[in-house]
Amino acid sequence: MEVKEVNAANKKGMYENVMRQFDHAADTMSLSPGIRKILASTNNEIVVHFPVKLDNGEIEVFTGYRVQHNNALGPYKGGLRYHPTVDIDAARALAMWMTWKTALAGLPYGGGKGGIQLNPKIYSNSELERITRRFTFALGENIGPDHDIPAPDVNTNAQIMAWISDTYSSTKSTSIRQKNLHVVTGKPVGSGGLEGRDRATGFGVVSTIKSWAKAHNQDLNGKRFIVQGFGNVGYWASYFLEKEGAKLIAVQDASGTMINKNGINPDELNAHCTETNGSISAFKNATFIDSEEFFGIECDIIIPAALGNQITMDNVDKINTKLIAEGANGPLDTEAEKVLLEKGIDIIPDILCNSGGVIGSYYEWLQNKRSENWKMDDVLNLIQDKVSTAYFKTVDMAKLHSTDMRTAAYVVALTRLELTYKERGVFP
Ligand code: GLU
Repeated sequence: MEVKEVNAANKKGMYENVMRQFDHAADTMSLSPGIRKILASTNNEIVVHFPVKLDNGEIEVFTGYRVQHNNALGPYKGGLRYHPTVDIDAARALAMWMTWKTALAGLPYGGGKGGIQLNPKIYSNSELERITRRFTFALGENIGPDHDIPAPDVNTNAQIMAWISDTYSSTKSTSIRQKNLHVVTGKPVGSGGLEGRDRATGFGVVSTIKSWAKAHNQDLNGKRFIVQGFGNVGYWASYFLEKEGAKLIAVQDASGTMINKNGINPDELNAHCTETNGSISAFKNATFIDSEEFFGIECDIIIPAALGNQITMDNVDKINTKLIAEGANGPLDTEAEKVLLEKGIDIIPDILCNSGGVIGSYYEWLQNKRSENWKMDDVLNLIQDKVSTAYFKTVDMAKLHSTDMRTAAYVVALTRLELTYKERGVFP
């Protein structure tokens, strides 16, 4: 089955997945019933339909979403994705994951997520600019630097964040225009972005893998890894893991699957992808194989870095690895996860594994609020610190409750949220 088809078939699965994970964690820690009710629902769900003139003069109406799950710990925070699978259920699930992710990382944020249901590959750059600007305008006051702060996600990037920031600021009065830079994070460095934010997610993924190696007395040198998705997360995770001496032996994306047991050079592949509009197809230094074979490739580490629900009961039996590091949000179905845990395969859950991205965003936001310019090395050190603190907190919680890493990560996050609600109470 093609990656694309798997995604379409499991479009609804992500929301069911996040709720099953939440219920299990809430049971494990005996979360107070009232707080459980609050966290099981989303605060606000914004759906906008907006027209955009295409290059050929025709008008198209697009549908955009922003779900604001919870803001008990701070402003809503989370990405915007441009993909055909974006719908209200996907946005709900992804917004919830952001609430757990920011709480686990100890950030002063809540969780939100959104995007536009479209295939960005069929639009020109100027069409994407108009779509983005009109979407920002349609969201209006539903986003804001101290209210809800979007960031890049699947198929969105620094350029798109710059357009959002510019549109948002341009529609404000001149006196506050300059104070609105941090309405989005993940901007280009020249437009208030943070050095290192581009690689923050992949860097964070590898920081968690390094923590895993430390906790399990493993050496990453010589470890073979495979990556699904070679966008921002897939590339940077491969880049940093290769620096630890590990070897990238297979890559899959929506266009195909390729393998080279002697190693694929992440930089060479990235250079190829910049020529092919992001696709790995026709890369010279690897052999293309049937896509169904991907998850059966024998390796030490699998990094799913594409979309949700990729490892399910349909393919879980093939998995032949020691560790799954979830660069993507929600790549594992809860049933498949049980099978993997029974087999003794370790899983670094998404809300921990890919939290380097939102941690980087937090430092960008602080940099903008303080009108400063931070340095890449300092930023990466800060991210590594926060990610490894969250990793070992999760390990301790897993021991305390004799549970798996995902449930433990949820319990760390939910404990923080529960305390806040208990201290503050519920208005009125
Ligand atoms: N889209 C990323 C995520 O899922 C980053 C979110 C952010 O930086 O706000 O974590």
